[in-house]
Amino acid sequence: MTVYNFSAGPAVMPKPVIEQIQRELPSLQGSGMSILEISHRSQRFQDIIDTTKQDLKDLLNVPDNYEILFCQGGGTGQFAAVPLNLANHHRKIALLDSGHWASGAANEATNLGYDVDIVGNTKADNYQSLPYPDHELSSSQYDYLYTTINNTIEGTTYHNDILPDHKDITLVGDMSSNFMAEHYNVSDFGLIFAGAQKNLAPAGVTIVIVRKDLIDPAAHTPKILNYEPYVKKDSMFNTPPVFPIYAAGLVAKWLKGLGGIDAMEKINRQKAAVLYDYLDESKLFKNHVKPSERSLTNITFTTGDADLDAQFVDFATQHDLISIKGHRSVGGLRASLYNAMPIDGAKALVDCLHQFEQTH
Ligand code: PMP
Repeated sequence: MTVYNFSAGPAVMPKPVIEQIQRELPSLQGSGMSILEISHRSQRFQDIIDTTKQDLKDLLNVPDNYEILFCQGGGTGQFAAVPLNLANHHRKIALLDSGHWASGAANEATNLGYDVDIVGNTKADNYQSLPYPDHELSSSQYDYLYTTINNTIEGTTYHNDILPDHKDITLVGDMSSNFMAEHYNVSDFGLIFAGAQKNLAPAGVTIVIVRKDLIDPAAHTPKILNYEPYVKKDSMFNTPPVFPIYAAGLVAKWLKGLGGIDAMEKINRQKAAVLYDYLDESKLFKNHVKPSERSLTNITFTTGDADLDAQFVDFATQHDLISIKGHRSVGGLRASLYNAMPIDGAKALVDCLHQFEQTH
């Protein structure tokens, strides 16, 4: 039985990685101990975290003036950590409200007492398109421009060629749901963060890539959210999430083996096209995002009828296509096609949509 898991996260992981974890679980590298048991202070784990960091650095081409941090607290933790660390000059943030998670980040920064200026939003369009700043932004006015690079729920993406203008302002990008799924230049960003549970690893580790000069040693922040101790102690000033970091390391090696992010993006484009091409022809199911802004990793669609959508969820589940239901805040349907989803998964979904369409 082949089950395809389209969950938005935690999500599908590469099969060879799951198999490797299974093989190594009782005894890591012949140590007689499981990765679930070893001390984070052991040389064995030090080697794992060092290699994982180096592999992420290689894959993303991270320049030397950036730090890669392994944090906890997920994307939601970063909604607080980013302003607490980076917004202490003007205490003012420009933010593009592109959907649910962007609004969440805006609310958290506002709750913490920062002045959040929504410089563009597409609420009136139900967030089916991307907002851009309505005026020129400058770092003399704002600490940074905050963006949600891939909108997991709405299915839109600021791809590398349609990023908002950031020549005079520091760009911050939440890449939780398309981290390492497509090419970006790290140097376009002051900070990138991503919870691992979509494209990288099981839930529990959050990757932060931050330009060194932005780290504020005087930031008044609970230690667990403060980037400075992560830098000083190599992400190990307290106990790090050992297992997710180990799994992230295996996924990074798997991705390197495939040829890196550019090769992955090519596959992801083919995979997404399987579904988008079908949706563009379908008389029953529709995607409402314009092609240039469509997400490769989270593809939203609907019949326009909530009952019919629910019937399709049941139909898909009977065919072992799991977690097709859209996010509870927007309804409809959504297929997450992360790096580890094989193209056969997208094809199986299209077959199933087609079958359903013929009888409805
Ligand atoms: N940002 C984006 C784009 C997300 O998709 C999510 C989670 N789905 C979050 C932030 C919140 O992340 P977490 O659940 O790790 O706190």
